[in-house]
Amino acid sequence: MMHPHHRFDAAAIKDAIDPYDFYLKELGLPRYGYQSGVWRVAGTCPFHDDRKAGSFKVNTETGAFKCWSCGASGGDIIAFRQQRNDLDFIDTLRTLTQDWRISSC
Ligand SMILES: [Zn+2]
Repeated sequence: MMHPHHRFDAAAIKDAIDPYDFYLKELGLPRYGYQSGVWRVAGTCPFHDDRKAGSFKVNTETGAFKCWSCGASGGDIIAFRQQRNDLDFIDTLRTLTQDWRISSC
């Protein structure tokens, strides 16, 4: 149980989670593992009714994401989690900390 006044450190969370591993877990990146480069097609876009993979890409180094179809975008995995799950910033950090079992941040 976390202390109710526990403070979350966004930088420490980003340091602890590799963007590739994050998107692997969230979106099943390995199916597209043959691609080279840091920007990879990451399956269908979770932000619009996407029928065909191709327009949604993630940056496996920075965690940034962008959909060339609906325009959804963000600069890191925190932004992805926040937008996808419609959370406020603190709840985003809280769920990431829990999901990835980050103990001290
Ligand atoms: Zn989209």
